[in-house]
Amino acid sequence: MKKHNFSPGPAILPAEVMEQAAQACVEFNNSGLSILEISHRSALFTPVLAEAEELVREMTGLGDEYGVIFLSGGASTQFFMAPMNLIDPEDTALYVDTGAWSSKAIKEAKAFGKVEVLASSKADNYNYIPKDYSVSNHAKYLHITSNNTIFGTQQHWWPQTSLPIVADMSSDMFSRPLDWDRFGLIYAGAQKNLGPAGVTLVIVRKDLLGTVQRHLPSMLDYRLHIENESTYNTPPVFPIYVMMLTLRWIKANGGLNAMEAHNRKKAALLYNEIDRNPLFAGTVKHEEDRSLMNVTFVGASEEVDSLFLKAAKEAGCVDIKGHRSVGGFRASIYNAMSEESIQVLVDVMQDFARKHG
Ligand SMILES: *Cc1c(COP(=O)(O)O)cnc(C)c1O
Repeated sequence: MKKHNFSPGPAILPAEVMEQAAQACVEFNNSGLSILEISHRSALFTPVLAEAEELVREMTGLGDEYGVIFLSGGASTQFFMAPMNLIDPEDTALYVDTGAWSSKAIKEAKAFGKVEVLASSKADNYNYIPKDYSVSNHAKYLHITSNNTIFGTQQHWWPQTSLPIVADMSSDMFSRPLDWDRFGLIYAGAQKNLGPAGVTLVIVRKDLLGTVQRHLPSMLDYRLHIENESTYNTPPVFPIYVMMLTLRWIKANGGLNAMEAHNRKKAALLYNEIDRNPLFAGTVKHEEDRSLMNVTFVGASEEVDSLFLKAAKEAGCVDIKGHRSVGGFRASIYNAMSEESIQVLVDVMQDFARKHG
Protein backbone atom coordinates (compact mmCIF):
# COMPACT_ATOMS: atom_id res chain seq x y z
CA MET A 1 0.00 0.00 0.00
CA LYS A 2 1.28 3.48 -0.86
CA LYS A 3 2.47 5.37 2.19
CA HIS A 4 1.90 9.10 2.52
CA ASN A 5 4.74 10.27 4.69
CA PHE A 6 3.78 13.17 6.96
CA SER A 7 6.83 12.72 9.21
CA PRO A 8 8.21 15.91 10.80
CA GLY A 9 11.77 14.73 10.26
CA PRO A 10 13.73 12.98 8.98
CA ALA A 11 11.10 13.62 6.40
CA ILE A 12 9.84 12.98 2.91
CA LEU A 13 12.20 13.48 -0.02
CA PRO A 14 11.38 13.48 -3.74
CA ALA A 15 11.09 9.89 -5.02
CA GLU A 16 13.52 10.56 -7.86
CA VAL A 17 16.10 11.87 -5.39
CA MET A 18 15.87 8.65 -3.38
CA GLU A 19 16.15 6.56 -6.54
CA GLN A 20 19.27 8.42 -7.66
CA ALA A 21 20.72 8.22 -4.15
CA ALA A 22 20.06 4.48 -4.05
CA GLN A 23 21.75 4.02 -7.42
CA ALA A 24 24.77 6.05 -6.28
CA CYS A 25 25.15 3.70 -3.32
CA VAL A 26 25.52 0.83 -5.77
CA GLU A 27 27.61 2.69 -8.32
CA PHE A 28 28.31 6.40 -8.53
CA ASN A 29 28.55 8.05 -11.96
CA ASN A 30 29.80 4.93 -13.76
CA SER A 31 32.93 4.99 -11.64
CA GLY A 32 32.83 1.38 -10.51
CA LEU A 33 32.63 2.77 -6.97
CA SER A 34 29.85 3.53 -4.51
CA ILE A 35 29.32 7.08 -3.24
CA LEU A 36 29.80 5.52 0.19
CA GLU A 37 33.42 4.51 -0.44
CA ILE A 38 34.99 7.50 -2.18
CA SER A 39 37.27 10.16 -0.75
CA HIS A 40 35.79 13.52 0.10
CA ARG A 41 38.78 15.00 -1.76
CA SER A 42 38.37 12.82 -4.85
CA ALA A 43 37.68 14.06 -8.36
CA LEU A 44 34.34 12.25 -8.05
CA PHE A 45 33.11 14.14 -4.99
CA THR A 46 34.64 17.60 -5.45
CA PRO A 47 32.14 18.48 -8.23
CA VAL A 48 29.25 17.39 -5.96
CA LEU A 49 30.31 19.79 -3.25
CA ALA A 50 30.87 22.56 -5.80
CA GLU A 51 27.46 22.01 -7.38
CA ALA A 52 25.70 21.98 -4.01
CA GLU A 53 27.30 25.31 -3.13
CA GLU A 54 26.57 26.73 -6.58
CA LEU A 55 22.89 25.75 -6.33
CA VAL A 56 22.62 27.41 -2.90
CA ARG A 57 24.17 30.58 -4.33
CA GLU A 58 21.91 30.48 -7.38
CA MET A 59 18.77 30.07 -5.27
CA THR A 60 19.68 32.79 -2.81
CA GLY A 61 21.50 35.12 -5.16
CA LEU A 62 24.18 35.49 -2.47
CA GLY A 63 27.71 36.26 -3.60
CA ASP A 64 31.18 35.81 -2.25
CA GLU A 65 30.55 38.01 0.80
CA TYR A 66 28.79 34.96 2.22
CA GLY A 67 30.31 31.58 3.02
CA VAL A 68 28.25 28.48 2.16
CA ILE A 69 29.32 25.43 4.17
CA PHE A 70 28.11 21.94 4.94
CA LEU A 71 28.66 20.87 8.53
CA SER A 72 27.72 18.03 10.82
CA GLY A 73 26.27 18.17 14.32
CA GLY A 74 22.75 19.20 13.33
CA ALA A 75 21.00 22.49 13.95
CA SER A 76 21.50 21.82 17.66
CA THR A 77 25.25 22.40 17.24
CA GLN A 78 24.46 25.72 15.54
CA PHE A 79 22.56 26.78 18.68
CA PHE A 80 25.96 27.22 20.36
CA MET A 81 28.31 27.55 17.37
CA ALA A 82 26.58 30.72 16.15
CA PRO A 83 26.88 32.71 19.42
CA MET A 84 30.35 31.27 20.02
CA ASN A 85 31.51 32.77 16.71
CA LEU A 86 29.52 36.00 16.86
CA ILE A 87 29.50 37.40 20.40
CA ASP A 88 31.94 38.07 23.23
CA PRO A 89 30.80 37.82 26.88
CA GLU A 90 30.05 41.56 27.09
CA ASP A 91 28.06 41.58 23.83
CA THR A 92 24.29 41.26 23.62
CA ALA A 93 22.33 38.98 21.32
CA LEU A 94 18.57 39.32 20.85
CA TYR A 95 16.30 36.30 20.59
CA VAL A 96 12.63 35.83 19.84
CA ASP A 97 11.22 32.82 21.69
CA THR A 98 8.72 31.16 19.37
CA GLY A 99 9.00 27.52 20.36
CA ALA A 100 11.00 24.63 21.73
CA TRP A 101 13.85 25.09 19.24
CA SER A 102 14.12 28.84 19.90
CA SER A 103 14.18 28.18 23.58
CA LYS A 104 17.02 25.68 23.18
CA ALA A 105 18.93 28.20 21.08
CA ILE A 106 18.45 30.78 23.86
CA LYS A 107 19.70 28.39 26.51
CA GLU A 108 22.89 27.65 24.57
CA ALA A 109 23.62 31.30 23.68
CA LYS A 110 23.64 32.29 27.36
CA ALA A 111 26.99 30.55 27.75
CA PHE A 112 28.66 33.00 25.35
CA GLY A 113 27.21 36.47 25.96
CA LYS A 114 24.28 38.50 27.19
CA VAL A 115 21.01 37.24 25.86
CA GLU A 116 17.88 39.37 25.71
CA VAL A 117 14.62 37.66 24.88
CA LEU A 118 12.64 40.33 23.03
CA ALA A 119 9.36 38.48 23.00
CA SER A 120 7.97 35.06 23.81
CA SER A 121 4.73 33.21 23.15
CA LYS A 122 5.60 30.54 25.69
CA ALA A 123 2.75 31.46 28.06
CA ASP A 124 0.30 30.46 25.30
CA ASN A 125 2.12 27.24 24.48
CA TYR A 126 3.72 29.01 21.52
CA ASN A 127 0.48 29.16 19.55
CA TYR A 128 1.32 32.46 17.85
CA ILE A 129 4.27 34.47 16.54
CA PRO A 130 4.97 37.54 18.70
CA LYS A 131 4.84 40.73 16.65
CA ASP A 132 4.81 43.73 18.97
CA TYR A 133 8.46 44.15 19.79
CA SER A 134 11.07 46.53 18.55
CA VAL A 135 14.68 45.74 17.88
CA SER A 136 17.24 48.13 19.32
CA ASN A 137 20.64 48.49 17.74
CA HIS A 138 22.83 47.81 20.76
CA ALA A 139 23.03 44.08 20.07
CA LYS A 140 25.22 42.05 17.71
CA TYR A 141 22.41 40.09 16.08
CA LEU A 142 18.77 39.10 16.24
CA HIS A 143 17.98 35.36 16.29
CA ILE A 144 14.72 34.08 14.84
CA THR A 145 13.38 30.59 14.19
CA SER A 146 11.70 30.87 10.79
CA ASN A 147 9.40 27.88 11.20
CA ASN A 148 8.35 26.28 14.47
CA THR A 149 8.23 22.63 13.53
CA ILE A 150 6.48 21.49 16.71
CA PHE A 151 3.91 24.27 17.12
CA GLY A 152 2.96 24.81 13.47
CA THR A 153 3.74 28.50 13.26
CA GLN A 154 5.90 30.28 10.71
CA GLN A 155 7.48 33.65 10.27
CA HIS A 156 5.72 35.27 7.29
CA TRP A 157 7.30 38.68 7.86
CA TRP A 158 10.66 39.86 9.22
CA PRO A 159 11.19 42.63 11.76
CA GLN A 160 12.61 45.96 10.72
CA THR A 161 16.20 46.10 11.89
CA SER A 162 19.66 47.01 10.74
CA LEU A 163 21.07 44.14 12.81
CA PRO A 164 22.09 40.98 11.04
CA ILE A 165 19.36 38.36 11.45
CA VAL A 166 20.52 34.89 12.50
CA ALA A 167 17.87 32.39 11.46
CA ASP A 168 17.23 28.77 12.25
CA MET A 169 15.55 27.71 9.00
CA SER A 170 15.79 23.98 9.64
CA SER A 171 12.19 23.21 8.82
CA ASP A 172 11.43 25.62 6.00
CA MET A 173 14.73 26.17 4.20
CA PHE A 174 14.16 26.63 0.47
CA SER A 175 10.40 26.31 0.79
CA ARG A 176 10.01 29.91 -0.46
CA PRO A 177 12.00 32.86 -1.76
CA LEU A 178 13.28 35.35 0.85
CA ASP A 179 15.32 38.54 0.87
CA TRP A 180 18.37 36.46 1.61
CA ASP A 181 20.73 39.38 2.08
CA ARG A 182 18.81 40.48 5.19
CA PHE A 183 20.37 37.54 7.01
CA GLY A 184 23.78 37.45 8.66
CA LEU A 185 23.67 33.73 9.30
CA ILE A 186 21.27 31.01 8.24
CA TYR A 187 21.45 27.43 9.43
CA ALA A 188 19.33 24.44 8.55
CA GLY A 189 19.59 20.81 9.53
CA ALA A 190 18.94 18.96 6.28
CA GLN A 191 16.52 16.31 7.47
CA LYS A 192 13.31 18.37 7.31
CA ASN A 193 13.33 19.80 3.81
CA LEU A 194 16.73 19.36 2.18
CA GLY A 195 18.03 15.85 2.54
CA PRO A 196 18.77 13.07 4.99
CA ALA A 197 19.99 13.57 8.55
CA GLY A 198 23.71 14.17 8.96
CA VAL A 199 24.41 17.48 7.27
CA THR A 200 23.60 21.06 8.23
CA LEU A 201 23.66 23.87 5.69
CA VAL A 202 25.19 27.10 7.00
CA ILE A 203 25.25 30.39 5.11
CA VAL A 204 27.15 33.15 6.89
CA ARG A 205 28.24 36.70 6.09
CA LYS A 206 32.01 36.60 6.24
CA ASP A 207 32.44 40.10 7.71
CA LEU A 208 30.68 38.99 10.92
CA LEU A 209 33.40 36.43 11.61
CA GLY A 210 36.76 36.80 13.29
CA THR A 211 35.65 39.50 15.71
CA VAL A 212 35.37 37.48 18.92
CA GLN A 213 38.21 37.28 21.43
CA ARG A 214 37.75 33.72 22.62
CA HIS A 215 39.71 30.79 21.31
CA LEU A 216 37.57 28.80 18.90
CA PRO A 217 38.24 25.07 18.56
CA SER A 218 39.02 24.46 14.88
CA MET A 219 35.92 22.39 14.20
CA LEU A 220 33.73 25.14 15.69
CA ASP A 221 35.26 28.00 13.72
CA TYR A 222 33.16 28.92 10.65
CA ARG A 223 36.17 30.62 9.05
CA LEU A 224 38.15 27.41 8.88
CA HIS A 225 35.29 25.55 7.21
CA ILE A 226 34.86 28.38 4.70
CA GLU A 227 38.59 28.51 3.91
CA ASN A 228 38.67 24.74 3.47
CA GLU A 229 35.44 24.63 1.45
CA SER A 230 33.79 22.23 3.90
CA THR A 231 36.66 19.75 3.76
CA TYR A 232 38.67 20.79 6.80
CA ASN A 233 37.80 17.31 8.02
CA THR A 234 35.72 14.58 6.42
CA PRO A 235 32.32 16.09 5.72
CA PRO A 236 29.16 13.92 5.55
CA VAL A 237 29.72 12.86 1.95
CA PHE A 238 26.51 10.94 1.31
CA PRO A 239 24.11 13.43 2.99
CA ILE A 240 25.75 16.26 1.02
CA TYR A 241 25.24 14.29 -2.20
CA VAL A 242 21.55 13.76 -1.42
CA MET A 243 21.15 17.42 -0.52
CA MET A 244 22.71 18.36 -3.85
CA LEU A 245 20.21 16.09 -5.62
CA THR A 246 17.37 17.74 -3.70
CA LEU A 247 18.62 21.21 -4.66
CA ARG A 248 18.74 20.07 -8.30
CA TRP A 249 15.17 18.83 -7.92
CA ILE A 250 14.05 22.20 -6.52
CA LYS A 251 15.66 23.99 -9.46
CA ALA A 252 14.22 21.57 -12.03
CA ASN A 253 10.77 22.07 -10.52
CA GLY A 254 10.75 25.83 -10.93
CA GLY A 255 12.92 27.02 -8.04
CA LEU A 256 11.81 28.80 -4.91
CA ASN A 257 8.91 30.73 -6.45
CA ALA A 258 7.35 27.50 -7.64
CA MET A 259 8.05 25.80 -4.28
CA GLU A 260 6.21 28.58 -2.47
CA ALA A 261 3.24 28.56 -4.84
CA HIS A 262 2.92 24.79 -4.51
CA ASN A 263 3.40 24.86 -0.74
CA ARG A 264 0.71 27.53 -0.38
CA LYS A 265 -1.71 25.51 -2.46
CA LYS A 266 -1.01 22.33 -0.48
CA ALA A 267 -1.34 24.00 2.90
CA ALA A 268 -4.59 25.72 1.88
CA LEU A 269 -6.08 22.36 0.94
CA LEU A 270 -5.48 21.00 4.43
CA TYR A 271 -6.26 24.16 6.44
CA ASN A 272 -9.54 24.58 4.54
CA GLU A 273 -10.58 21.10 5.60
CA ILE A 274 -9.52 21.68 9.22
CA ASP A 275 -11.57 24.90 9.32
CA ARG A 276 -14.56 23.33 7.57
CA ASN A 277 -14.66 20.00 9.39
CA PRO A 278 -16.56 20.16 12.74
CA LEU A 279 -14.44 17.34 14.21
CA PHE A 280 -11.12 19.18 13.92
CA ALA A 281 -9.65 22.52 14.92
CA GLY A 282 -6.35 24.22 14.15
CA THR A 283 -4.05 24.89 17.11
CA VAL A 284 -2.51 28.15 15.89
CA LYS A 285 -4.27 31.21 17.30
CA HIS A 286 -3.81 33.64 14.39
CA GLU A 287 -4.37 32.44 10.87
CA GLU A 288 -1.58 34.62 9.52
CA ASP A 289 0.98 32.70 11.61
CA ARG A 290 0.09 29.28 10.26
CA SER A 291 2.97 27.24 8.94
CA LEU A 292 3.01 26.05 5.34
CA MET A 293 5.27 23.19 6.43
CA ASN A 294 3.83 21.73 9.66
CA VAL A 295 0.06 21.78 9.94
CA THR A 296 -1.04 21.26 13.55
CA PHE A 297 -4.61 20.46 14.56
CA VAL A 298 -6.57 18.64 17.25
CA GLY A 299 -9.67 16.48 17.33
CA ALA A 300 -12.90 17.66 18.95
CA SER A 301 -12.55 14.98 21.65
CA GLU A 302 -10.08 12.42 22.97
CA GLU A 303 -12.07 9.80 21.15
CA VAL A 304 -11.59 11.61 17.85
CA ASP A 305 -7.87 11.88 18.57
CA SER A 306 -7.40 8.17 19.04
CA LEU A 307 -9.82 6.97 16.36
CA PHE A 308 -8.62 9.36 13.67
CA LEU A 309 -5.00 8.31 14.07
CA LYS A 310 -6.12 4.78 13.31
CA ALA A 311 -8.23 5.82 10.31
CA ALA A 312 -5.38 7.85 8.86
CA LYS A 313 -2.98 4.96 9.29
CA GLU A 314 -5.36 2.61 7.51
CA ALA A 315 -5.31 4.98 4.53
CA GLY A 316 -1.49 4.92 4.49
CA CYS A 317 -0.99 8.33 6.14
CA VAL A 318 1.96 7.84 8.46
CA ASP A 319 3.41 9.95 11.24
CA ILE A 320 0.59 12.44 11.71
CA LYS A 321 0.57 12.20 15.50
CA GLY A 322 1.18 15.63 17.01
CA HIS A 323 4.16 16.41 19.23
CA ARG A 324 3.40 15.60 22.87
CA SER A 325 3.57 19.29 23.81
CA VAL A 326 0.68 20.14 21.46
CA GLY A 327 -1.21 16.86 21.18
CA GLY A 328 -3.59 15.99 18.36
CA PHE A 329 -2.08 15.89 14.93
CA ARG A 330 0.72 17.36 12.91
CA ALA A 331 0.90 16.86 9.17
CA SER A 332 4.33 17.85 7.91
CA ILE A 333 4.00 18.76 4.26
CA TYR A 334 7.49 19.78 3.13
CA ASN A 335 8.48 20.59 -0.48
CA ALA A 336 8.44 16.96 -1.61
CA MET A 337 4.90 16.26 -0.31
CA SER A 338 2.44 15.97 -3.20
CA GLU A 339 -1.01 17.51 -3.40
CA GLU A 340 -2.35 13.99 -4.00
CA SER A 341 -1.07 12.78 -0.64
CA ILE A 342 -2.65 15.74 1.13
CA GLN A 343 -5.90 15.01 -0.68
CA VAL A 344 -5.77 11.45 0.71
CA LEU A 345 -5.55 12.87 4.24
CA VAL A 346 -8.36 15.35 3.52
CA ASP A 347 -10.51 12.49 2.21
CA VAL A 348 -9.89 10.53 5.43
CA MET A 349 -10.97 13.58 7.46
CA GLN A 350 -14.16 13.96 5.43
CA ASP A 351 -14.94 10.28 5.61
CA PHE A 352 -14.25 10.34 9.35
CA ALA A 353 -16.66 13.25 9.86
CA ARG A 354 -19.40 11.38 7.98
CA LYS A 355 -18.95 8.32 10.20
CA HIS A 356 -18.39 10.01 13.54
CA GLY A 357 -19.84 13.51 13.17
C1 LIG B 1 14.56 19.68 13.96
C2 LIG B 1 14.92 21.07 14.29
C3 LIG B 1 16.09 21.39 15.01
C4 LIG B 1 17.03 20.34 15.55
O1 LIG B 1 17.77 19.80 14.52
P1 LIG B 1 18.89 18.69 14.80
O2 LIG B 1 19.46 18.54 13.42
O3 LIG B 1 18.19 17.48 15.31
O4 LIG B 1 19.86 19.24 15.75
C5 LIG B 1 16.36 22.71 15.26
N1 LIG B 1 15.54 23.68 14.83
C6 LIG B 1 14.42 23.43 14.14
C7 LIG B 1 13.55 24.55 13.69
C8 LIG B 1 14.07 22.11 13.85
O5 LIG B 1 12.95 21.84 13.17
